[in-house]
Amino acid sequence: MKRTIFEVILALALIGAGAFGWTNLKGNQKATAQLTELQAASDEATKAVGEKEAAIKAAEEEMSALREEMAPLEGQVQQLSAVKAAMATGVTLADLEAAYKSQKNLSAERQVGLGALRMLTKGADDPVAIESFRKALKASELGDRKNTICAAQIGLAAAGEKIAILPECLPKPAKAKEDKGEKSGGEEKAAEKDAHSKDDGHDHGKGDAKGKDDGKGKAEEKGGHDKKVAHWSYEGDMGPERWGKEFPTCAKGKAQSPLDIRGPFVKTRTVVTTDYKEGPLKMLNNGHTIQVNVPAGSKLRIDGIAYDLLQFHFHRPSEEKIDGKPMAMVVHFVHKNAEGKLAVVGVLLKEGNENPGIKTLWANMPMEEGPEVAPEGVNFNPANLLPREFDFYSYEGSLTTPPCTEGVRFFILKTTVNVAKEQVNAFPFKRNARPVQELNGREISTN
Ligand SMILES: [Zn+2]
Repeated sequence: MKRTIFEVILALALIGAGAFGWTNLKGNQKATAQLTELQAASDEATKAVGEKEAAIKAAEEEMSALREEMAPLEGQVQQLSAVKAAMATGVTLADLEAAYKSQKNLSAERQVGLGALRMLTKGADDPVAIESFRKALKASELGDRKNTICAAQIGLAAAGEKIAILPECLPKPAKAKEDKGEKSGGEEKAAEKDAHSKDDGHDHGKGDAKGKDDGKGKAEEKGGHDKKVAHWSYEGDMGPERWGKEFPTCAKGKAQSPLDIRGPFVKTRTVVTTDYKEGPLKMLNNGHTIQVNVPAGSKLRIDGIAYDLLQFHFHRPSEEKIDGKPMAMVVHFVHKNAEGKLAVVGVLLKEGNENPGIKTLWANMPMEEGPEVAPEGVNFNPANLLPREFDFYSYEGSLTTPPCTEGVRFFILKTTVNVAKEQVNAFPFKRNARPVQELNGREISTN
């Protein structure tokens, strides 16, 4: 059995090496011998990404079953977990191969995939692998990719780095069924979500992103497992009024978002400007919203301090109300500065003419929950969704999704932007808006 596991690991290593041209694999001699033996098998595997994933699953099952007698192999177990986690983000070998060739703008998912393969081919302490995991973690922090966060955490731990891993990220002591591929994915997602909640500090985006997985992955998973998984949704047993059970800040926080915005207002001299750039479109359906992940380079400046635009996403109807009234939808642009402070710009969408920017987005949006997609040859400039005027209401609030972390500065623009009724109806979430929260003495300012 143990031998089989090694074989799988080594076969994976070969696949990685073959795909990326990493030939100087310096295993020990025993491993080298096995590599030779396994060459034929791995050649086949190289052709079939699906097979590789099946092999990972099989190995994982075996490892789980053998866990107790495998203490000496713990390192390999961890590495295998990292690979499995990386693959669960939806990255395939073919993706990685293509990504490796261009090397530019690697998504967080591809970074973890690369990290995992580097680790297998070069060893757990390969600095490039560690760097890849770190980049992935950084990129996915706010991007809302639970899967990827989990994968990166596991990868770093497997590489011996000091990192806090959420318990849910760890491979389960498998007794039960790990047989369904999707399930593993689901579980991992669930785990990541928790990771998010724990880490907080930043993430409106995360929250949203997170949310996606949580809800579904966990819920689905639950059948087989007893573990405690956090999950949330916009209705029913896991609806907003219950978020506080798993995410205390959602219930106990005193500076929560969204708000019903109404006077009196305090005049502010704060100057806010945007400098958004066109870039390749990357978007995902995270189960709670449609989110566009923005390449580096687009910025918001608040009194001269730069905040990077990380992502934007949609709520229907608008989460914010103005004098008690919601709009058809709202776009939340999520930014983060060098200190980790978050700022969200909200653009209210009012039913009216067709919105050309949304037309482009909707033409490419994934209707079902899943990993990020990057339609070929499609560029987008987030500025297309902004009104000309930048008059705003501003207040200190929170993520509007679990874990409802506070310390998020909101700028809700006074000028609305049009969206056609048909476009609203085409949005795959009928209702994904948290109800308005208590003001609790906060000031709302206006420029
Ligand atoms: Zn939002």
